[in-house]
Amino acid sequence: MSEEKLEIGSTYALPKAEFDNLLVRLKEKGFETLGAKVDHDTLVYEPISALADLPQGYISEQKAGEFRLKKVNHDRYFDYIPGAHSWKQFLFPSRQELFTLRKNGDGWNTELPDVEQPKYAFIGVRGCELSAIQIQDGIFMREDFTDPTYAKRRQNLFVLAVNCLHPAKTCFCTSLKTGPKASPGFDISLTELDDVFLLEIGSEIGRLVLQGLPLEASSAFLLQTAQKGLERAEKEIKRELDTSDLSELMTKNLTHSHWQEIAERCLSCGNCTQVCPTCFCWDTVDTSDLLGKETKRERVWDSCFNPGYSYYAGGNTRPTINTRYRQWLTHKLGTWKEQYGTLGCVGCGRCIVWCPVGIDLTEEIPLFREEKKS
Ligand code: SF4
Ligand code: SF4
Repeated sequence: MSEEKLEIGSTYALPKAEFDNLLVRLKEKGFETLGAKVDHDTLVYEPISALADLPQGYISEQKAGEFRLKKVNHDRYFDYIPGAHSWKQFLFPSRQELFTLRKNGDGWNTELPDVEQPKYAFIGVRGCELSAIQIQDGIFMREDFTDPTYAKRRQNLFVLAVNCLHPAKTCFCTSLKTGPKASPGFDISLTELDDVFLLEIGSEIGRLVLQGLPLEASSAFLLQTAQKGLERAEKEIKRELDTSDLSELMTKNLTHSHWQEIAERCLSCGNCTQVCPTCFCWDTVDTSDLLGKETKRERVWDSCFNPGYSYYAGGNTRPTINTRYRQWLTHKLGTWKEQYGTLGCVGCGRCIVWCPVGIDLTEEIPLFREEKKS
């Protein structure tokens, strides 16, 4: 079809065989294309250069404390639900140099890292993941403080979102209204049908990337098929979290006995915070060479489950697992709202899947509510 006719907000059909050309377009515009890949029986987000790099024919089965990739008898590319990796690692790297000091005679020279940041195109961002990015925008790009690395990477970012047609059993995005359909904020959103990808244009750069590709205006039949797939996916999501009074429930139950019951199972390993796409605790670490001529300061991911995270002059403000778990959940589902205007959870289910003892916040929260009623 004529490229002038492409419009933001409209949906077009692209034959699957043409998808590699979309990736080529992105590369021509300077983007590094990242997507899901199978690696050691799990899914990781890494550079991709072709549709064939994606986990074709895989689904992921997830439950509390368990993740399994399964090869099934179909040839679809986006039926998996992501693993432990989230896009957070690219916008807010787990290890990032802040500055290096080099000895210069009696003094020190300060060297700042390169201000240039990569230009990423994320391929296959779920609705919940897009919401998580938007939540982190509010943390790292505030009016009173903007993190320069995050802001630059975010401004450079291209988002190709995916509407989920096969959610996992641990998903509860419907409760948080973050999925299965990706909300606005994408450059292009994709729905995978049998022979084509339906692509909705969400931004001017999305429109430019698609220009010249052999797109067809989407037929009513294809749009209806996509819509039915999304409705089916929504019905498949059985896990729920009642968010109606969540912030209040959390902040009013700080001395509830159930914190201790959770603490007896929790290992304080911090897995839940590392896989969570919205968690942002960090620490600074200084490393010196043995000659005392160079010192590097880095920002590294931390976790509110680490005892050292809450160690201040004079002692630890959260010395027990009980208090650390309570901090995590009351922040994420309670005070986060006051601080940033939203909840800190998007319902992706990662913390449930990757918790080694299978602690499931959707099962724990109602216990606070039930006991409150009684
Ligand atoms: S708290 Fe759990 S379900 Fe919510 S966004 Fe974080 S990892 Fe996902
Ligand atoms: S809730 Fe689970 S994942 Fe999180 S710190 Fe406790 S044991 Fe680790």
